[in-house]
Amino acid sequence: MPPEVIIIGRPNVGKSTLFNRLVGKRLALVDDQPGVTRDRRFGDAELLGLKFQIVDTAGWEDEDAETLPGRMRQQTEAALRTAHVALFVMDARAGLTPLDEEISRWLRGSPVPVILVANKAEGRAGEGGLLEAYSLGLGDPVAISAEHGEGMADLFEALLPHLDPLQEDENDEEFDEEALLQGPLKLAIVGRPNAGKSTLINKLLGQDRLLTGPEAGITRDSIAIDWEWTARNGEVRPVRLIDTAGMRKKAQVIEKLEKLSVADARHAIDFAEVVVLLLDATRGLEHQDLKIASMVLEEGRALMIAINKWDVAEEASSLFQGIRAALDDGLAQVRGVPMFAVSARTGKGLDDMIKAAFDLREAWSRRVTTSALNRWFDDALAANPPPAPGGKRIKLRYITQAKTRPPGFVLFGTRLDMLPESYKRYLINSIRRELSFEAVPIRLTLRSPK
Ligand code: GDP
Ligand code: GDP
Repeated sequence: MPPEVIIIGRPNVGKSTLFNRLVGKRLALVDDQPGVTRDRRFGDAELLGLKFQIVDTAGWEDEDAETLPGRMRQQTEAALRTAHVALFVMDARAGLTPLDEEISRWLRGSPVPVILVANKAEGRAGEGGLLEAYSLGLGDPVAISAEHGEGMADLFEALLPHLDPLQEDENDEEFDEEALLQGPLKLAIVGRPNAGKSTLINKLLGQDRLLTGPEAGITRDSIAIDWEWTARNGEVRPVRLIDTAGMRKKAQVIEKLEKLSVADARHAIDFAEVVVLLLDATRGLEHQDLKIASMVLEEGRALMIAINKWDVAEEASSLFQGIRAALDDGLAQVRGVPMFAVSARTGKGLDDMIKAAFDLREAWSRRVTTSALNRWFDDALAANPPPAPGGKRIKLRYITQAKTRPPGFVLFGTRLDMLPESYKRYLINSIRRELSFEAVPIRLTLRSPK
């Protein structure tokens, strides 16, 4: 279960409006609970990547002034029993009322952390009420406008320390990621005709399952082969190999084939977690290879390079370095893609290659906690502050990891449209290096909170 955040406040301060804003499109999931919890609404909320369940203690509008405080107290105390954090909402335009003061007295005695929220704080009309809010003794109020969506980054900042530790062990998605890592590694081998794809797959499988050599026929579909890899330490791990053009090289028109191999790669990439681009050591890195490599990264897959036919490679070390340099030059997205010298014929290097593919999948699937990410963020900004184009500061506020496989991050701040590409690259490379994302493609989206 995600952590629970409860919204408390007297009628008309904007609790429902805030609830709706936090639940957003997921409003359909709102549940009206019967019985004792009649007056509570539950919804799945998300704020800048933080996920929690939000509970609105609404429904007191019809109470008469006599019975209202007692009923509210009863309700609030019941709701507080399961909550991790309480958002106590007051109306900054109306200022404090005796009922606000009474509620704050109950809350001060509660073990649940309370965040004081001054709503309707858009414009100047809220300034007086905001100042009054300090007198409640519940810490600094977070000024927001639930109606206009202002102050959401500040609310995020106030919630983060309470919710982030809970997300770590209560994040359902994390379990899915774990399960996916236990499942078969979906591995595609792509490369130009004659690079040695079929030979490689045969070698891995240890049997002549695929036809190789000049007489191989043509097939249309890619095939998936379930197989088990035995690591040197004896561990057995499942692999689903996706083979495409391995059997197709016998077409008459070679240009057509070159085109086909790109189309095949695209097909295989759709199914794969990790893609091995197989090069031919006797031919080096060709334009077509770079095209396939870029495509793999654009599709957000983890990429590895295997230089095949190493048994017949000449000037091996300069060949390896030459390919490394050409790759780093030619691929804008990622530097340092893992590279292996292999021989499909002798089996050299294949074990290391498969092991690296498992590791790469892990990095590709990794989720860092928002707090670890923001620790990195503070350091990265301190080491190299964002530029101030035209003398105006670009303000970078928070970063969250919105997705995995591949890792996707959302950066919040102001004037982000002015952020130079070079600075974005600095951040991405630093994430990779400092948070062990290795050579996986990383997405960084910029967003200015309203
Ligand atoms: P609740 O009774 O606490 O749930 O309050 P509601 O969410 O129903 O809001 C009460 C009234 O305040 C409605 O008319 C809202 O449109 C208005 N309201 C809510 N949030 C804001 C805000 O940020 N600014 C202003 N000006 N009005 C708001
Ligand atoms: P595919 O078109 O990518 O599937 O390539 P094949 O597996 O059919 O291999 C093309 C040719 O390269 C065949 O003649 C293979 O015997 C040869 N070949 C594949 N791997 C190696 C290798 O590691 N070393 C050498 N010397 N030849 C290889």
